[in-house]
Amino acid sequence: MKSRKTKKKLMAVSMAAAIFLPLPLDSGHAASPSATAKNEAMLVKIHLKNRADLDKLLSYGIDLTENLDQHAGQGMEADAILTKEEMEILQLRGYKTDVISTQHEIETLRQERQFTVQQEKDLAAAKDKVTILRANYFTSQGGKFLYVEAKSDAGALNSTVLTATWDNGKNTAPGSGGTAALERNEDADVYMYHSMLLPVDTRPSTVNITSSLGGTMEAKVTDWIGGKKPTPGKHYVSDFTDHYMTPTELDQRITKLAKHFSSIAEIVELPYETNGYRRKAQTMIGEQANPASAVVLTSKKWGHEGGNSITLQAVKQEGTNLPLTIDTKENTIVVKLATDASGQSSSKAKDVIQKINAESGNLVTATSFRGNSGEGYVTPTEKLKLTDGLKAPESISREPHTMKAIRIGKHRDGSKAGVLLYSQEHAREWVTPLVSVETAERLLRNYSTDKATRKLVNNLDIFIVPSVNPDGATYSFYDYNWQRKNMTNHCGPEKSDPALRNTWGVDLNRNHGTGSVYDGYLGSSTDCQSSVYGGPAELSEPEAKNLIWLADENPNVKFAMNVHSYGGYFMWPPGAYKALGRETLPRPTAGQEAFFWSASERILQQIKEYRGTTILPGRTGPVPDVLYSAAGNSADALWYNYGIYAWDFEVGADLWNARENKWEPVGFQPPFEEGHEEAMEFSNGLIGMMDVAYDYEHDKKAPTSTLHVKRSMDNATLEFSTSEPATIYYTTNNKRPTFSSKKIKISGIREGAEKPVLEQTATVKWFAIDASGNIENHYKPEGKKDNYRSQTVKVK
Ligand SMILES: [Zn+2]
Repeated sequence: MKSRKTKKKLMAVSMAAAIFLPLPLDSGHAASPSATAKNEAMLVKIHLKNRADLDKLLSYGIDLTENLDQHAGQGMEADAILTKEEMEILQLRGYKTDVISTQHEIETLRQERQFTVQQEKDLAAAKDKVTILRANYFTSQGGKFLYVEAKSDAGALNSTVLTATWDNGKNTAPGSGGTAALERNEDADVYMYHSMLLPVDTRPSTVNITSSLGGTMEAKVTDWIGGKKPTPGKHYVSDFTDHYMTPTELDQRITKLAKHFSSIAEIVELPYETNGYRRKAQTMIGEQANPASAVVLTSKKWGHEGGNSITLQAVKQEGTNLPLTIDTKENTIVVKLATDASGQSSSKAKDVIQKINAESGNLVTATSFRGNSGEGYVTPTEKLKLTDGLKAPESISREPHTMKAIRIGKHRDGSKAGVLLYSQEHAREWVTPLVSVETAERLLRNYSTDKATRKLVNNLDIFIVPSVNPDGATYSFYDYNWQRKNMTNHCGPEKSDPALRNTWGVDLNRNHGTGSVYDGYLGSSTDCQSSVYGGPAELSEPEAKNLIWLADENPNVKFAMNVHSYGGYFMWPPGAYKALGRETLPRPTAGQEAFFWSASERILQQIKEYRGTTILPGRTGPVPDVLYSAAGNSADALWYNYGIYAWDFEVGADLWNARENKWEPVGFQPPFEEGHEEAMEFSNGLIGMMDVAYDYEHDKKAPTSTLHVKRSMDNATLEFSTSEPATIYYTTNNKRPTFSSKKIKISGIREGAEKPVLEQTATVKWFAIDASGNIENHYKPEGKKDNYRSQTVKVK
């Protein structure tokens, strides 16, 4: 039965004020709570049996609103403004009522409103402070762009508008290039920053931002990824991929490579076998449209191990009052449905389920459809064949898979800095393993002729896992191309009918143990059907365990790249936050953040070199600042537990369509010509990352630092600068600085190093340490010598 909802105007009885005609009060109910409570007006839903009920209500002259819900034959509901006292009287007269909202709630709403209005007034009076975080010019695939990020300290208000104006280059009039409002970026109810990305005709020299509240700031435009092209060696060879590769092909390729280049490469078999590209065979008696009569059958054995050869048929018996029986011969199950006195089939789904489980339980498990109680009658069927539904040719193994890494390096004994590259956590990201395999080939095939390659292979210990999700990837190639997760089904029988097969599996980039959904972080789910299912527990999946095993076994690994597609991002930790207050995992120090940025520019420069693709500055940075929270991702596990500089690539940057002036996304499985280009450019990026690792390994130079002091009337602001990206540890209480002292963090999302403020005279003692662990002055924080830096800062 459907309820009919009508909205009816009741203007005639909707009076301005709630003048309630006196109702006879039942004695004894008059003297109760305080007068104010009794007088408090509320919005109340009154449940009415019929029209007559409504008419009676109208005759009382109460303040009805213009909302009346009528349910055909089921009574109706009218909303009214009532005082508490009036409501109590109606209740005594037998009306059922529900409070919708109270005056008190409205009061809160008023206060909120007043607060915001006042906030805006205060801020307008004070003028907001505008900070330009970046003003970048870059080219990408033939287009020219201006990117601006700015923050207002009144940015929490939606009404704060930032407007950019820019010139047409050096010595041109301010504003001659153009003007545009910036977009306000908010996430999880927290204001982040304003930003703007626009094509321009010429490179602007200066950008000015003006806030609607009066704040203003000007900044010089700098180049993003605009350095000079690295010169490749004369005999450098590349381009070894000519089609998308399945996990089976990837295994064959790296195995062959390791064999051919056995002096500088080997295969590492990872210890945890995957579930395998396999499924139980299934079928269903009846239809989804009639769930009470449906029975889901699932083989006990895997499909390829016998499940696929099971058949089942439900047949009608001739005769009256016959019992339900089952004949099972080898793999053939025949269900003979019971008949009633008139000879009709009379077995209910629940009875058939019980009977099959009791008598054919060695072959199959029978369950009802999605938890239905199974009270419907089963109808006879054709002969049904159980199937695992898998479409890959028989040459593709159905057995648990041993995942493989190719380890490349002249010295593979843990003595050299390790680099870990892994791709295809998400099965459908077909381009990503190509990036990894191309990189392996370049390192091996250029070793004998190219000096730069030899330098990397001789000095680094490189682990490459082309596919972290081989079962899911095989499924994506042959069965369901959008498969993201692995193939393990953790859903119970209620969510395990064959129609749901594409919803099973665990998101391997949500199954890790740091900042996971189980720790309360956002961006993952405990629902087995969710596309971001974190698994039944942290690290439940062999694929995720294998990655952690590599980090455990090889403490020399200092850099990692988690290769995904598609979006053209370059990101680093933290990768997750809690919804409440958007509290992220601890952010890297300002020095570490600076290291991530400086390494990024080098890596992105290499990517750009291939076909001019620029990873946007707005897509470069800590994961939650540029994308979203991803609870339980693998890069966080590597950074927070192993101190590995762990990046994420999203290969496949949007393509710039200059004719139509717009960006166009490339997708998970672009035409191979495009996939190939992405593999080439991002392989460049991986080589760039190895250059970073090489420099890290060979950086023996200690950083130097300077303390700048800005004095005001009653305090002093400390500002540290360093000769290279380095973390500052400092004290102001006269103690030696150590690794447990305060460290300089970044001051906010997308902002630079914080600037501590001293309220009284103190001696600042500090040291700087770079990414490679070199310490300024060769100071030993845990030692005895006092060769840290020191400066007395006077405050009046
Ligand atoms: Zn992905």
